[in-house]
Amino acid sequence: MAERGKNKGDIRNLGKDSDVLKGAVSRRHLLAGAGASVLAASALSSAPGQASERAKGSGTRGHVIIVGGGFCGVTAARELGVLGFDVTLLEARNRLGGRTFTAEFAGEMVDMGGTWVHWLQPHVWTEIRRYNMELDETLGGVAEDIIYLDYQGKRHTTKFSKLWPTREAFEKVIATYFKDAYEIMPRPASPFADDGWVKADKYSVQDKLDSTDLSPIDKIFCDTLFTTYGGAPPEQISWVDMMRWYALTGYSGIVMNDAITRFKIKGGTKALLEKIAADTGADIRLSTPVYKISQLEKGVEVITDGGERLTADALICAIPMNVLKDVEFSPALLAAKLEASKQTHAGQATKMHIQLDKEYPIFGGWAPGGKAPMNYVLWGSAKNGHTHLITFGPSTETLDMNDQEAVEAAVRQFLPDAKVTQAFGYGWNVDPYSQGVWFASRPGQMSKFIGDMQKSQGDIHFANSDWANGWRGFIDGAIEQGIIAAQRVRQQLGA
Ligand SMILES: Cc1cc2nc3c(=O)[nH]c(=O)nc-3n(C[C@H](O)[C@H](O)[C@H](O)COP(=O)(O)OP(=O)(O)OC[C@H]3O[C@@H](n4cnc5c(N)ncnc54)[C@H](O)[C@@H]3O)c2cc1C
Repeated sequence: MAERGKNKGDIRNLGKDSDVLKGAVSRRHLLAGAGASVLAASALSSAPGQASERAKGSGTRGHVIIVGGGFCGVTAARELGVLGFDVTLLEARNRLGGRTFTAEFAGEMVDMGGTWVHWLQPHVWTEIRRYNMELDETLGGVAEDIIYLDYQGKRHTTKFSKLWPTREAFEKVIATYFKDAYEIMPRPASPFADDGWVKADKYSVQDKLDSTDLSPIDKIFCDTLFTTYGGAPPEQISWVDMMRWYALTGYSGIVMNDAITRFKIKGGTKALLEKIAADTGADIRLSTPVYKISQLEKGVEVITDGGERLTADALICAIPMNVLKDVEFSPALLAAKLEASKQTHAGQATKMHIQLDKEYPIFGGWAPGGKAPMNYVLWGSAKNGHTHLITFGPSTETLDMNDQEAVEAAVRQFLPDAKVTQAFGYGWNVDPYSQGVWFASRPGQMSKFIGDMQKSQGDIHFANSDWANGWRGFIDGAIEQGIIAAQRVRQQLGA
C-alpha cells in the first residue's frame, strides 16, 4: 500500500496506485498486502486500552460490538465502557483513527487527514478540555501576501488588505455568496428543525458562483475557498452544505476560516484519540475487517473477513457512508442508506504536505475550479532552509500525488522557482475503508438522506461523522455521533 519503495525522489503517497488497491482485488487480499506498510507509517498502530480476553457480557450491563475505530467508534466505546458495558471494537486497519492519521513528515508529526479544531465545535472541544489538550495556532487560510491564479491560469500577486481593507469588506463577500443564510439555515446544528435548507439544497457551489454578483477577484476567492472546503469540483458540491459551515460559525467568514484551518491539537489528532481510546477499557481488535453484520432474533452477529463469528447484545456500525455498501447486512441495509453509499459523497480531495528546498516568506495560494491541480496552498512554516506547505486540490484526477514532477509543476504555478524536496499525501480516495475524504454533500444529497442515515435497524445503530447533525464531515461530528449511538444502545438495553 505504501509507495515508499517505488517512489521517485521523496514523494510519498500511501494508498495511491498500489497494486493491492486496484478495484478488482478483494478487501481480504488487500489487507494482507496493505498491512505491513501502513503499520510502518502509522503512529497509532498499537491499541491503547486493549483488554485481555474477557467473558463477554458476564457481570456487565451488556456486550456491545463497535465496528470502526475512527473518532466516532472510539468515542462510543469510551462512553459505553465508562457506563460499565463490555465493548469489543473491531477495526479494519492496523491503526485506530480512521480518517485522522498523524504521521511523520520531514522530522515532524503532521496530520494527513482531519487536523484543525475549534471551540465552536462543541463535542471535540469538550474532549480537548476533558483531557487538557494543548493547541498549536497556525497561520490559517488568510495570509497578507496572496498569490493567485485566475480562470486562465495566469499568476497574480496581491495583498489581502488591498482586496479587503476592512474586516467588514471581507465579511460582505462571504455574506453575498451565502445570501439569506440566516433565513435559510437558522439552526445549522439541527437539520430537522426547519426545512429552509432542504428547499435550498438544489444548487451547487458552481451554480451560485455563476449567479451571484461577485467581482472577478471575489469570485476567484469564493471558488477557491468552497472548492477546497467541499473537496471536489464545485459543480459536485451542495451550496447549502457549505453554507452550514458558515452558519455554524455564527455567519462569519473570518470565524469560519479560523474554525476550519487555524488551530491544531499539539501532538496531532492521535494525541487526543489515544486519550479517548485509553479510557474505553474495550477489547480493541485491529486488522479485523467486518464482512457481515446480522440481526439475530436476540442480539447481533458479526462475521469478520477472517471468518470469525462474534455475537453481542447490540452493535454500533461506525464506518463511513461510502463504505457501508461493501458490508453485507441481514436484514438488508435500509434502501436509502444503500443508495447514499452507492452515490458516495462528493469529498474526493487531495491533501499534501510538501517541503521546498528554501525558505519562502508567508503567503497564501489560491486557484479556482475543479480542474486546478491545487486550489489552496497554506504556508505552514519556513525554517532550517526549508518551507513546509499544506496543499488541497479537488481530486486525484487533477493531481497524481505519486508524480513528483506533477506535484512540483503544481507548486510552481504559485512559486515559479520552487523545488520540491519531499511530499506526502495519503490515498484516502482509494483506501477501501474510507473511499473518499471528509464528507461533503452533493446537491440534494443530505437533505434527502440524513434522516435515514441516522436510523437504527433493530439492535444495529449507525453512527459516523458523515451524517452528524452539526459538524458533519468533521472530527466534532464523529464524536457527536459516537455519543448519540452509545446513548441509543443504553436505551435499547434498558441499562
Ligand atoms: C484529508 C482530510 C482532511 C480533513 N480535515 C479535517 C479537519 O481539518 N478538521 C476536522 O474536524 N475534520 C477533518 N476531516 C474529517 C474528519 O477527519 C472525519 O470527518 C472524521 O475523522 C471521521 O470520523 P469517523 O469516526 O466518523 O469515521 P472514520 O474516521 O472514517 O472511521 C471509520 C472507521 O471504520 C473503519 N472501517 C471501515 N470499514 C470497516 C469494516 N468493514 N470493518 C471494520 N472497520 C471498518 C475504518 O478503517 C475507520 O477506522 C478531514 C478528513 C480528511 C480525509
